[in-house]
Amino acid sequence: MVRGEEEGKYLDIILHSAPRGVPVYAYCLVLLSVFLNRSTIMRQLEKPRICILGGGFGGLYTALRLESLVWTDDKKPQVLLVDQSDKFVFKPMLYELLSGEVDPWEIAPSFKELLKSTSIQFSKEKVKLLQPSDHLNNSGRNGLGRSYSGGTVLLESGVLVEYDWLVLALGAAAKLDVVPGSAEFAYPFSTLDDAIKVDEKLRMLERECFSKDSSPIGVAIVGCGYSGVELAATISERLQGRGRVQAINVETSICPSAPSGNREAALKILSTRNTELLLGYFVSSITETHVSNDSIGTGPEISVHDDAKTKRKYILELKPAQRGLQSQIRMADLVLWTVGSKPLLAELEPSYQSRALPLNGRGQAETDGTLRVRGHPRIFAIGDSAAMRDSSGKLLPSTAQVAFQQADFAGWNLWAAINDRPLLPFRFQDLGEMMTLGRNDGAISPSFIDGLTLDGPIGHTARKLVYLWRMPTDEHRLKVGISWLTKYALDSVASLQTTIANTFSVP
Ligand SMILES: Cc1cc2nc3c(=O)[nH]c(=O)nc-3n(C[C@H](O)[C@H](O)[C@H](O)COP(=O)(O)OP(=O)(O)OC[C@H]3O[C@@H](n4cnc5c(N)ncnc54)[C@H](O)[C@@H]3O)c2cc1C
Repeated sequence: MVRGEEEGKYLDIILHSAPRGVPVYAYCLVLLSVFLNRSTIMRQLEKPRICILGGGFGGLYTALRLESLVWTDDKKPQVLLVDQSDKFVFKPMLYELLSGEVDPWEIAPSFKELLKSTSIQFSKEKVKLLQPSDHLNNSGRNGLGRSYSGGTVLLESGVLVEYDWLVLALGAAAKLDVVPGSAEFAYPFSTLDDAIKVDEKLRMLERECFSKDSSPIGVAIVGCGYSGVELAATISERLQGRGRVQAINVETSICPSAPSGNREAALKILSTRNTELLLGYFVSSITETHVSNDSIGTGPEISVHDDAKTKRKYILELKPAQRGLQSQIRMADLVLWTVGSKPLLAELEPSYQSRALPLNGRGQAETDGTLRVRGHPRIFAIGDSAAMRDSSGKLLPSTAQVAFQQADFAGWNLWAAINDRPLLPFRFQDLGEMMTLGRNDGAISPSFIDGLTLDGPIGHTARKLVYLWRMPTDEHRLKVGISWLTKYALDSVASLQTTIANTFSVP
């Protein structure tokens, strides 16, 4: 049959199939709208579905990267970002909540605000269970004409999310159950809630310490890696003469793996603040006691009372980790625990399918060079959830810098996988290390200039500028930039006024 004859025959069938009494033009319109709707629905159904678990440095930045890439209409994925919290947290700046340098909205903006001008869907939900099926070698197409899904994710509300591609970016939490008493009495410092709780506790202690005859506030910090040292510098500056910080480390130095410039800058600052470094000790237990105000000190003489005039204190037992040191008993009003972390991927409920995920001893997913989980072509793992090794076989550190760079590659590799292009191998570029040491001090050692460390106010400002540049969206970056500039201008005016007042008050 020639083409014209064939078309004529179909037109004849359509026109004759119109129900009696229905005008032919109306019937054709109905048929046309059904056809258009069906093709829209089919296109929707065929769009790749990407589910991203965790909206931190890995997950949120992957979603934003996917949004920024150019897609053809039929390949543009539907992206669902799932996080148990409604806010993204810029963790490296949590210390600034204690120093009062930043407001919570600046470092913990809501996902709703960040994603409002994107097509990324957000769901505030806790992930319960993973049920991947991509390792079962399902290939081909299902009844709807789309390729078989990569698996499902069960959320705590009971909702089941079916995905084609999955990104694991659940991060890590503080590991507290390390020694007797640490989980009960020590505060972690890993989430926005943790930082708010520590700030509230410090406020309470500061209020109690208001009267002249009250004892100084004692803060013990367990661990002198970056987190412990940044906390020690920030809190000792905040307390000034009202308190004392004891920073305890099992090693004989602080930040042992940091560039020497950063370590020296930190030591210099801590030596000018009310901080005692207890190096070469490990904390073997923490207990609670109530101490009468008269007997408060840092030594071992403890008298236990139960009446209203007593203060709750914590006793830390310190055991020597180095020869020549003696065991010690220390007391504190607040204990902060900064040693160790546990990846949250391993905390999900195990299922038969999720046991198929290759996890290392710490509970991170083993990935290949393109960030895909080994044996799972539809799952990518990034940030603290991923166990990825560099070319020398060393595990990449669990840092925001790694997660941020991996997000860029994960976004690109998802695009490549969906468009049948080759995936890129991830290469970590170590850009250097930074730390805050209080409201006006910091240290930054860029890796590309050997031996250079910017410290003091310059280091502090440089670190803040880098973090401003790292903020997730242009709009948020602009808002935060304006807010910081305003605060800086107000601070400068205030200090100028103080200087002028001091000058004229000289007799
Ligand atoms: C106080 C502090 C300071 C730090 N400073 C630095 C620094 O200076 N430089 C640096 O490079 N790194 C720093 N880090 C480390 C860095 O923040 C992390 O390595 C980085 O955030 C890891 O990114 P991620 O995406 O893997 O996890 P995260 O950024 O932690 O994001 C994980 C997300 O997953 C969500 N989530 C977890 N479990 C579930 C669940 N079951 N269901 C739903 N959602 C879930 C969480 O709510 C969170 O939003 C610091 C960390 C802390 C705690």
